Amino acid sequence: MAGKDNKKQYVPAPVARRLPRYYRYLNDLYYKGIVRVSSSSLGGKMGITASQVRQDLNHFGIFGYHGYGYNVRELHAEISHLVGLENHYRTIVIGAGNLGQALMRNFQFHDIDFELEAAFDVDPALIGIEINGIPILPLNELESFASIHKPQVAVLTVPESAAQSIVDLLVGLGIRGIWNFTNVELSTCDEDICIEDVHLADSLLTLSYHIKG
Ligand code: NAD
Repeated sequence: MAGKDNKKQYVPAPVARRLPRYYRYLNDLYYKGIVRVSSSSLGGKMGITASQVRQDLNHFGIFGYHGYGYNVRELHAEISHLVGLENHYRTIVIGAGNLGQALMRNFQFHDIDFELEAAFDVDPALIGIEINGIPILPLNELESFASIHKPQVAVLTVPESAAQSIVDLLVGLGIRGIWNFTNVELSTCDEDICIEDVHLADSLLTLSYHIKG
């Protein structure tokens, strides 16, 4: 089906943004035992045209079979690889308050191959507590923890006032990605660190925009 190449080539941002959705639908089809899928059926599920699906996948060097579509197992494997699913990213939470704990309790990091290993906080009342088997450690142990366990991803759920100083602390510890919930526009001097912002309110306001009279 595909022409693969491990080099990361330029892919337009909207196409890259759709990858997790492709993954979600493909995962569903794969675990239902469905063998093949056409671009029109995939596009129908995602609210885009068959031609858009083909163009998107072509960006990654993935081509369907003429008159057949895509083999689900192969496409699932390709998309899983593209979203980096086999990387088992070692992950930490920084800020184990309401949101940090809610994620530790309820978000299935493991299902998408992120391995949550520890949380860090400055509140003495939280240190030593375990949430779902994940220990909350004092922030001043972050550096020694990182030198041993080499976490690659940090989930940032500290108050806004602490966000940038935590990012500055993370530089040099080997962190590759920050999942930023803090509503602060963060910057880092290390351009190899990728920051992904999550704004629940933006999503709700988008809904509000669509339903307002
Ligand atoms: P919270 O006060 O319950 O938790 C924050 C935790 O961070 C506390 O346990 C505190 O002790 C800890 N903390 C403070 N300074 C720290 C530091 N320097 N290092 C490590 N830990 C530190 O707050 P919350 O309700 O869990 O919210 C956390 C963050 O998430 C806030 O910035 C909030 O604005 C944001 N938030 C974002 C969204 C979203 O949609 N992105 C939604 C809700 C909350």
